[in-house]
Parts: sequence; C-alpha cells; structure tokens
Amino acid sequence: MKVLIIGGGGREHALAWKCAQSPRVDEVLVAPGNAGTALEPKVRNVGIEADDIDALLKLAAREDVGLTIVGPEGPLVAGIVDRFAAAGRACFGPSRAAARLEGSKAFTKEFLERHRIPTASYAAFDKDSFDPAYIRAQRLPLVVKADGLAAGKGVLICETHEAAIEAATAMLGGSFGSAGHTVVIEEFLHGEEVSFIVIASDQTVLPLATSQDHKRRDDGDRGPNTGGMGAYSPAPIVTPALHARIMREVIEPTLRGLRADGNPYLGFLYAGLMIAADGTPNVLEFNCRFGDPETQPILMRLQSDLVDLCEAALAGAGALDRVDVRWDPRAALGVVMAAGGYPEAYRKGDPISGLDAAARLPGKVFHAGTGMQAGTGTHTGAGAHAAQIVTTGGRVLCAVGLGESVAAAQTQAYELVHAIHWNLVQYRRDIGYRAIEREARKPASLG
Ligand code: AMP
Repeated sequence: MKVLIIGGGGREHALAWKCAQSPRVDEVLVAPGNAGTALEPKVRNVGIEADDIDALLKLAAREDVGLTIVGPEGPLVAGIVDRFAAAGRACFGPSRAAARLEGSKAFTKEFLERHRIPTASYAAFDKDSFDPAYIRAQRLPLVVKADGLAAGKGVLICETHEAAIEAATAMLGGSFGSAGHTVVIEEFLHGEEVSFIVIASDQTVLPLATSQDHKRRDDGDRGPNTGGMGAYSPAPIVTPALHARIMREVIEPTLRGLRADGNPYLGFLYAGLMIAADGTPNVLEFNCRFGDPETQPILMRLQSDLVDLCEAALAGAGALDRVDVRWDPRAALGVVMAAGGYPEAYRKGDPISGLDAAARLPGKVFHAGTGMQAGTGTHTGAGAHAAQIVTTGGRVLCAVGLGESVAAAQTQAYELVHAIHWNLVQYRRDIGYRAIEREARKPASLG
C-alpha cells in the first residue's frame, strides 16, 4: 500500500521514516516534505502544500493512497479529515469539529470547565465585551491568549495589569488577524510542563510513551518561546501514579465530553499539561496532532508498526484495544538545531555541512526546514552534482540519540549535533537537564 504524510517538518520526516519501515508499505508520499524525506528510502516528496486540500485529495485518488496521516494542525482545523472521509479515503486525524480543541482556546476553556477537567481559571472577551476592569481585578502575572491558531505565538505572559490590557487590546485590534478576534485571559499556573500524547479512537485510548519538551530558546529554559528546542522520552516526572491521574482526570473525561457533545475524537491527541506541586494535571492546551519535536524521540522508541496502529484506530475501538504496542526500553532525546535569529526573523539558504558524517554515527537526524539548493538538483543522471542541502526554515534539524538513560541519549544526540555545522547555527546545550537531574537523584526506571 501507499501512505501519504501531509506536512514538511521534523514531525513529518519522523512519521514518513517510521511508516516506510512497515513491511506492508510500498511507498510513502510526503506533501510537501523536505530534503530529509527526499533522501529517505521508499519515500517520495510531492510538491503540494499541506493546506491545499483539493490537490491532496486528487493526489490520494491518483496514487490510490491507502492511508493518509496529517501532521500539522492547519489542515485538520480546516476539515481535511471530513473531506477525505466524504471521498471514502482513510485519513488519520480528528474531524473539523473535534479539531476545534486546538483551533479555538475559548471553545476549549468552556469545554474544560463544563466537563470539570482541571485548568486555569479564565475569562474570554471579544471587542464588544472586553472589560479592562476584569484584568485589574486579577492576580499577576496574567496570561493573555489569542483564541485561534497563531503558530505558537499567540500567548503572552504579562507581569503588570497595564501590559495585559495592552496585549489584549492589540489582539482585539487585529495584531493576530482573525485569531485574536476573541481573547482568553488566564490565571498563571506554576509547576512543570508535560506533554501527554495518545492515539484516540472515540473512547479507546492508546497512550504513547511519555515525553517532555523545551519551549524556550535558551539554556536553563530562558529566552523567548519557540515551537520547541528539544524533547525526550520517557519523562521521568510522569510516574505511574501521575500517568493514571492524567488518564483519569484529563484524557478520559475529554474523550467522554467530546462524544457527549457529538464530536467523537479520532487521531493523535496531545495534552499540554502544567503539573502543580500537589500533582494536579492542569490543561494548558490541547493539540489535535502529534507534537514537534516530541514525535521524533517518541517514534525512535516505537517498535510496533505505526501504520497498524493508525489503521486499528480507524477501524474502531475494538481493533485499537487489541493492539499490543512495543517500546524500546531505552530513552531517546532530540536536540533541535535552528537557524540564526530564530524564533524572530531568521536566515535562510545556508549550506549545511557534516550530514554525511552524522549519518555514520549512531542515532538519527530528522530534517525540518531543509531543502535542496537550486541548480544542484536531486536528479541522479551522469554528471549530476551531489545535492547541497541548505536551511529553509527556523527549526532546521532534530538530532536524536538513544541510550540506557536520558543522560546517555543526550550524549549520543550531541555527538550528532557536533558533527553538523552551518553559519550561525544555534541549539541549546542542556536538553533533558531536568530528567537528568532526576536520574542523578534516583536510579533510572524507564517506562
Ligand atoms: P499554549 O499554547 O496555551 O500551550 O501556551 C504556550 C506556552 O505558554 C505553554 O507551553 C506554557 O509554557 C505557557 N503558558 C500558557 N498558559 C499558561 C498558564 N496559564 N500559566 C503558565 N504558563 C502558561
């Protein structure tokens, strides 16, 4: 069969690489993919953007694609799964109605409150209802969020009431386009963040291996927020007791609530949680897709066939219940290598060196913002140049190592990082430090 992966980032490279390992898969198409997917055995890039649903549907029909997996949230929120389903094509992801869990923060806050799922207290306003007096009455700091999709940039943590009023006013005035027509003002939560990702098929849940990411750009979790600078799996903070609590207090009531509201969920469901000092798993956000960069270390540990898991979820609850997921007991850790300037305006077109040397080392380098330089081409005729891979995006690569502990996986990941170079490359030097501190206090028990 043929599998289609939609998207072109590091998550999609990992999904394509994993699906290509399935003995049932003849070819994996990636739309649009990147230089990493272009070079992967059994994988072919197709020059269609992830949000061009009409062209993607035509491609799936022309190539007789047996399974489509959607990487990014944009096409999911736009309803790609409904369109594929209407055409009789298996597409792994939530419907447009269920994807509102990521598409609208005001919708999600109302949903969480109504179903009594732990989350920060909040109020939502539009231009007409906005009341600065509400903000002045709240304790600081305050979190101001644009309601809609804002590519991870629509969240501001404000230390003064004036800053919060200013941020909300700017959003309502259009600084985030239509994403900011509604704003959510939220209580600031303390604690440690955890990503909890599952495959859901209505009420049946297959929790994936635990993971944790680093969102800030700089060492010590400082500096501006990014899409994610690294991640590792497992996350030692998620003890069996906390795991059970997250399932009971967050995942199960969310899926029950969606079904009760008439929007049963299918696909990857990602809960971004802030674990309070007393262990309460407060929901910060839901994503309706796999995380990036969490996908890369998690799939490095997945030994089962991902295509089988997605097909079981699509076949319905009974089938997903019967699958047996196997994980590599080792830890995996991914370090994101980003372009100079990221997450602000960043450089593009810098040639990347050392990828061949890195490919001979243990571990795996997943590509995100990479492309083949024009002129050198990807053709393999006589006299063709070896293609030069250049940077094309903010997050460029994710180097993933495996090891008997998070510390050992970190060592392997940084050996890959040190083999690779381009002008003004930046990366954090401390990915996994919280887990490694925990390991140092207590011998690792991987799960
Ligand atoms: P979100 O997109 O809602 O997950 O927000 C992005 C990031 O902002 C989160 O990963 C947190 O680091 C931070 N954040 C969001 N909401 C809160 C909150 N209520 N309290 C503290 N930090 C938050």
